[in-house]
Amino acid sequence: MTIDEHLHHTFGFSSFRPGQRETIESLLNGRHTLSMLPTGTGKSLCYQLPGLMLDGAVLIVSPLLSLMQDQVEQLKIKGEKRVIALNSFLQYEEKHAALSQLEQYKFIFLSPEMLQLPYVISALCARSIALFVVDEAHCISQWGYDFRPDYGLLGKARKELGNPLTLALTATADKKVRSDIRKTLCLDDVSEWVFSVNRPNIAIDIEVLQEPLEKQKRLQEIVHFLQKPGIVYFSGRKSAEEAVVYLKQHGITRTAFYHGGMDIGDRLLIQHQFLNGDLDVVCATSAFGMGINKGNVRFVIHYHLPSQMEAYLQEIGRAGRDGKPAISILLYVPGDEKLHEFIAESEFPDEGQIRQVTEYGLHPRDVQPPLSETQERFLVHYAKAADQHRESRATFIKDVRTTLLERKAEKRFQMKRWIEAD
Ligand code: ADP
Ligand code: MG
Repeated sequence: MTIDEHLHHTFGFSSFRPGQRETIESLLNGRHTLSMLPTGTGKSLCYQLPGLMLDGAVLIVSPLLSLMQDQVEQLKIKGEKRVIALNSFLQYEEKHAALSQLEQYKFIFLSPEMLQLPYVISALCARSIALFVVDEAHCISQWGYDFRPDYGLLGKARKELGNPLTLALTATADKKVRSDIRKTLCLDDVSEWVFSVNRPNIAIDIEVLQEPLEKQKRLQEIVHFLQKPGIVYFSGRKSAEEAVVYLKQHGITRTAFYHGGMDIGDRLLIQHQFLNGDLDVVCATSAFGMGINKGNVRFVIHYHLPSQMEAYLQEIGRAGRDGKPAISILLYVPGDEKLHEFIAESEFPDEGQIRQVTEYGLHPRDVQPPLSETQERFLVHYAKAADQHRESRATFIKDVRTTLLERKAEKRFQMKRWIEAD
């Protein structure tokens, strides 16, 4: 079965969530993998699915008995009976019985403390290990919010197990924590996938220009000095095509456009060339995205204001999925917003919510009334943009919000006048 068939038939899901496919494919390609995916994404699937496809056992280190139990139940519901949890809940006899019959089990859950016991290690060594999974891997680092000393010893255990293929999973790990994870587990060559609400490796910038003509020139300059590859998003097909001509005239030759007006063969070709590293810059409409699982996109530029906050966040989120530094730049000329449909008011946090985060230092999760995911991301991103602009966070975010909302009102007004005049 292919991974898609497993997803549908074994797990009964219709599509992968962001980051799942990347993680699974990376493991099936034999690469150590560190994946940071938001809570609730389905990180467990990232080892369950490849685990079924690989020969040998899957060891999963989990910090809490409750989490462990939860995952054991999940697997049993899916019809997988070859599951055991080795933890301090087991009686001495039970533990030894389990350890002497390890070949029976496909998925073996362990607390990190278990891996400190020599007889556990030697029992595990007698079993061929397909995959070593460290769940909640941020517990490895003193800088993570939940440091567990026994997690710090997992590198030694991993070595004793013969350095098996390894997957580290977490929902929360900044650069420093991810580097600790790699070091502790001795993962030199690791493929890293970062899909999260807060993407600290993506710098966010907004450049305000005076008139549309300045944009092409500025785009060309930016693309020259930025590390490539990158994506430039446009609101329309024509402007994407024009930008390609302009960039080529200015020496950026490995560039192409992509939009929904092209036939499927041409679109696939561009997609393929981009993934393959044959193109430095793709000038695209929002049609370019689905299926673009490319880790090393170094920049995403918005030539026009995106039509929706969610689209904007999705699009800038295509940068830096390998966890390395990336940048997103919005080129803005007053008036751009008239081009298209506008951002809904409900997509923004209100002023009270903004202040709870920016002035009282609350975590966006704890804000009342609770923020939607889009609102949370809005706050996280613009707080960072504010830092880069060295402005007070509250003022900056409020300004962004008011400006966008005012423009929306202005657009409605113009529409009304236009309809009335007709
Ligand atoms: P995490 O560890 O990332 O917080 P879990 O692995 O516990 O998340 O999964 C959360 C829920 O999402 C589970 O109920 C799981 O069955 C479900 N899930 C996982 N992958 C998918 C998918 N591709 N489509 C729909 N639901 C999924
Ligand atoms: Mg989990």
